Amino acid sequence: MGVILTLHHVRPPRLDRFQPNRLLEIRPSFLDDVVRWLRRSCIDLVSLDEMHRRLTGQSAARRFVCITIDDGYRDTLQWAYPILRQHRVPFAVYVPTSFPDRLGELWWLALEAVVARNDRVRLLIEGREQAFQCAGVAEKRHVFEQLYGWLRSLGTEEQLRSAVRDLATRYRVDLAAFCEELCMSWGELASLAANPLVTIGAHTVNHVMLAKVPEKAARSEMEMSRLVIEASLGRRPDHLSYPVGDPTSAGPREFRIASELGFLTAVTTRPGMIFPEHRDHLTALPRISLNGEHQQLRYVRVLLAGAATAMWNGFRRVNAA
Ligand SMILES: [Zn+2]
Repeated sequence: MGVILTLHHVRPPRLDRFQPNRLLEIRPSFLDDVVRWLRRSCIDLVSLDEMHRRLTGQSAARRFVCITIDDGYRDTLQWAYPILRQHRVPFAVYVPTSFPDRLGELWWLALEAVVARNDRVRLLIEGREQAFQCAGVAEKRHVFEQLYGWLRSLGTEEQLRSAVRDLATRYRVDLAAFCEELCMSWGELASLAANPLVTIGAHTVNHVMLAKVPEKAARSEMEMSRLVIEASLGRRPDHLSYPVGDPTSAGPREFRIASELGFLTAVTTRPGMIFPEHRDHLTALPRISLNGEHQQLRYVRVLLAGAATAMWNGFRRVNAA
C-alpha cells in the first residue's frame, strides 16, 4: 500500500572525517530531490491520520508515502520544514518530551564527542577498567563502533545511561547541552505544530529503549509523553514512534501497550513496506530510513520498490513478533 519514511537530521553536511552518526542525517538538497521525485511519481504524500484511514477503511488505489522525522531536532524546523512546506507535503515529528524540557540525554552524541575529543578513552566494562586508543580517524571509528555495540548490548537502559554518564563526567562532555544546542524548544515546536501539514507524535519522555525497562516504566514513558505534549502544545498525539525502534527496543509487549493506550499507530525502525495485513498490526508498523550514507535517488527507488526489504524480511509481509 505504501511506505513510511524515517528521517532524523536534515542539514548541510559537516566536513569532519569522524562522523559515526552520519547515517542519521541527510542533506536538504537530497530531501528536496526525493520530494520532487515522489511528486512526479504516482504516489500520494499523506499524513499519519490519512495513512491510518487508508489502512482501516477502503484502501486507495494509489500508493502512499508518509514522511516521519524522529527526535525533534532544530534542523527539522530550519531545513526540512521549508522544503516540505514549499511542496505542501504533510509530515510527522516524533518528540521525546525530555528534549524540549532540556533534560534529555542524547547519549549517542555524547559518546561521539568523547571519542572525537580524546586520543585515549578509559572506562569500566564489567567491573574492569579498560583503555581504548583512538588518536586517528580510523581508530576513532573502530572504538566508537565497539563502545556503541557494547552499550547497546547491555541488558537494561539504566546500565547504558549510567555508563554514558560516567564517560561524560570523566571526559567533561556536557550531556545536557546537546538538547539546548540541537533540539527544538516548546516554542519552536508550537510554531511547527501550528501548520496543519504537521503532526506531532509521541516518542516517549526519556527516549528509552522500552523493551529494556520494566513494563510499568514502559507504559508510563508512552503515556506521560502524550500527556506532556498535550499540556505543552494543546493537542494529544494519536501516533507514537518507539525510540531506537529495532527488535531489542520494541517488541510484542510494547506493541500491546501502545494499542492499550489507544495510539492509532506506532512505528518501529524495522525495515519494511506497509501491506493491507498491517491493519491488524497498527502499533507495529515498519519504516524505511533515508540513510545518510546512501543519498542518491536510485537507492530510494530501489527501497520503495520493496524488493530490498522483502528480502530482509524473508518475504514475510508482517514482522511484528
Ligand atoms: Zn529517536
